[in-house]
Amino acid sequence: NLSERLERSFKILKGEGKITEINVAETLKDVRRALLDADVNYKVAKSFTDTVKEKALGQNVLTAVKPSQLMVKIVHDELTKLMGGDTAEIELKNRPAVILMSGLQGSGKTTFSGKLARMLKTKKNRKPLLVACDVYRPAAIEQLKVLGQQVEVPVYCEMDSKDPVQIALHAIQEAKAKGYDLVIVDTAGRLAIDEQMMNEIEAIKNAINPDETLFVVDAMTGQDAVNTAREFNERLDFNGVVLTKLDGDTRGGAALSIRTVVNKPIKFVGTGEKLDAVDQFHPARMADRILGMGDIVSLVERAQEQYDEEEAKRLQKKIQKNQFDFNDFLTQIHQIKKMGNLKELASMIPGVGKAIKDIDIDDNAFKSIEAIIYSMTPQERTHPEILNGSRRTRIAKGSGTSIQEVNRLLKQFDQTRKMMKMVTGSKMAGMMQKMKK
Ligand code: GDP
Ligand code: MG
Repeated sequence: NLSERLERSFKILKGEGKITEINVAETLKDVRRALLDADVNYKVAKSFTDTVKEKALGQNVLTAVKPSQLMVKIVHDELTKLMGGDTAEIELKNRPAVILMSGLQGSGKTTFSGKLARMLKTKKNRKPLLVACDVYRPAAIEQLKVLGQQVEVPVYCEMDSKDPVQIALHAIQEAKAKGYDLVIVDTAGRLAIDEQMMNEIEAIKNAINPDETLFVVDAMTGQDAVNTAREFNERLDFNGVVLTKLDGDTRGGAALSIRTVVNKPIKFVGTGEKLDAVDQFHPARMADRILGMGDIVSLVERAQEQYDEEEAKRLQKKIQKNQFDFNDFLTQIHQIKKMGNLKELASMIPGVGKAIKDIDIDDNAFKSIEAIIYSMTPQERTHPEILNGSRRTRIAKGSGTSIQEVNRLLKQFDQTRKMMKMVTGSKMAGMMQKMKK
């Protein structure tokens, strides 16, 4: 990872008070290589390292800060700046406000439409209407309808119309008539850019004059993403970019390149197939990610969103007193499940992303554990030590599991309890501290 590389190449610098031309050259080579590895466009990487070099040369290195740390900071700040500095908000002025999705087929437009509807409904108290303008594939309309049902947002569609411009206009009329204050227009895409698609999306845009035209792009397509972004921007002059499929350890380089090439802010990132797997784009965190530090801030924030602080305190006390029981265990499982895809969460922890890439963690992992706990009596849940042989047999039968599974869970529970007690003093206290901010 880049931070480690910098650390290494800056060993030479130890004891020197300044970053000099000679020792900076080696480091910048590493920086450039790391950026290329992260899928950053080579021109972007080149101009980036030039800027960093200018900034770094002649910087006085405070004795308290290692030159390598200073260099990491310069690189980090410069990356953040390059990606726009601050988080870019969407601007929804009109009533109803209109958001238009654009992008290639498979980029994630329809999924993101559903995610955005859910997000703005739950977090901004909006009343959205989804609009299906993909007139070429009936399955696409069906897909949006299913998403609409899941997020409980109505979907406007016209099954027999082949005119997306009219559909979009009608939808806005419908929204006005029925009091929806937000219209999200999902459109068709092609596998590659073609004239017909560009004309169509341009015509829709001109007709409905959206508050926001968003360009949706698959982060995994790397350099292609940059070219597609450029072409869409030339035709649509879009307001912002949505970077999808930034799950797990997908490299974030596309974010940097797109931002630099089209000079439009990235506004959202999609991080999974589930409908809550969406976030606003935070340049500083993406810089962390590109540097390989892991997206700790996002992780903590996500956890915090779902996690009641009081509950955490209560739990900490119980753990310290060794009173953590199966009811708490069950609560924990529910919390974890609420936080969304486990693998996605785990991958945000530095160093874990790569390690779990090929491991299959899914939400069903907890099914039998939950079943076992549900089969316990209240007394058994609070006093697991009374779980003798006959009780265990009864629980196994009741939960449709085996006595081995029950034993395994009890053993795991015991270990968890011990481990929690051990870390609760140090690590958890630190986490709590962060979460309070
Ligand atoms: P569209 O053709 O642009 O409308 O793309 P879709 O919304 O149909 O998405 C194409 C595929 O990508 C679907 O299988 C989605 O489930 C998947 N997808 C969309 N966004 C994400 C994401 O952020 N992460 C992952 N892993 N998959 C995604
Ligand atoms: Mg679609």
